[in-house]
Amino acid sequence: MVDSEALGGQLSANGIDVIHENKKTDHNIVVVNTCGFIDKAKEESVNTILQQVELKRRGKLDKVYVTGCLSERYRENLLQEIPEVDAWFGTMELPLMLKQFDADYKAELVGERLLSTPKHYAYLKIAEGCNRTCSFCAIPLMRGNHVSKTIEEVIAEAKRLVKMGVKEIMLIAQELTYYGLDIYKKRALPDLLKHLSDIEGLHWIRLHYAYPSKFPMEILDVMKERDNICNYLDMPLQHISDNMLKAMKRQITRSEITDLIAGIRDRVPGICIRTTLIAGFPGETRDDVEDLKQFLTDTRLDRVGIFTYSHEENTTAYELEDTLTSEEKEARAQEIMEVQQEISYEINQEKIGNTYKVLIDKKEAGRYLARTEFDSVEVDNEVVIHSKKPLPIGDFVNVKITKAFDYDLEGEVI
Ligand code: SF4
Repeated sequence: MVDSEALGGQLSANGIDVIHENKKTDHNIVVVNTCGFIDKAKEESVNTILQQVELKRRGKLDKVYVTGCLSERYRENLLQEIPEVDAWFGTMELPLMLKQFDADYKAELVGERLLSTPKHYAYLKIAEGCNRTCSFCAIPLMRGNHVSKTIEEVIAEAKRLVKMGVKEIMLIAQELTYYGLDIYKKRALPDLLKHLSDIEGLHWIRLHYAYPSKFPMEILDVMKERDNICNYLDMPLQHISDNMLKAMKRQITRSEITDLIAGIRDRVPGICIRTTLIAGFPGETRDDVEDLKQFLTDTRLDRVGIFTYSHEENTTAYELEDTLTSEEKEARAQEIMEVQQEISYEINQEKIGNTYKVLIDKKEAGRYLARTEFDSVEVDNEVVIHSKKPLPIGDFVNVKITKAFDYDLEGEVI
């Protein structure tokens, strides 16, 4: 999304009209920005390309260009299989793509983006690539080694976003906590956070994708100290059984993870921890699944998402035998999520009667949908508000929780 927004920013600056997912279908060129890290994402990307190619065949489009991770990873095959695409670009070829539009790459526009999110929140990418070697992961193959943006670049981009009306920034990178090691020879996320937190008008800063091994605990001190850094941490754990963590090459053990979570909660009481897990990695036994379920029961993480394992060529896990069928993987994912569903329900019930500051995201079917500082966009809980009085989208209000469900809350403005 951020890459599409950067492309949109460059094209707009060159006088070209750009619309994200134009509903009016009055456009003549389409750029498909693809994902390619797991089978479901690849399938979605290929289907989207085929739909656009079909529109071109029917004379509704002049050109179809494809960019992004799928194109980076499989360009040679795709060139043969879908020759109707006018040009393919890799993840680092933005200037080359702009040439197709007779547009110049404007270096001075780095950080200028045509936002595709509602104007009160935006994602902010602080680094690209990853130096980790997780055995299941194809991302470093497509995105290369970790390259941090400088603190000055990130701050300039954040200030620009705030000027455009953004109140909440979600920091992203393939591996957030590695930030700075390449350019400053130290983990610089705590410093970056302090600078970001000083930006006037930036109400919420949210941290996504923190790798757990060698997690820099000083981040938490800044989080505790600064009101505009959400007490929220998205830390993908992938699994908990030592067998699996070792096979996944996660550089951390079960006991280190449990100590880390206890340490995080100790430093920032009430912090919301989100994680993502993988079900059905090669060799995952019933004991490993039970272990993971027990861990969730014991640890009571606030938010959990789960992927089924995808067997990706050129990763080290590809050499292992993909032991489970997709149905078995799905069944395991569901079994694990059922445990979490109950935990999430219980955690949400405890919130009834509490008052939270929420950010109103949208109005849908006559009700307002908002989020607390403990909820990120799309992946977490929503707070549903019924209000006869109109509420401004993108504003903060205080809401008292009146009802709680598995994954959502309901409340009234006070
Ligand atoms: S840290 Fe994340 S992006 Fe990097 S290799 Fe591991 S799973 Fe992939």
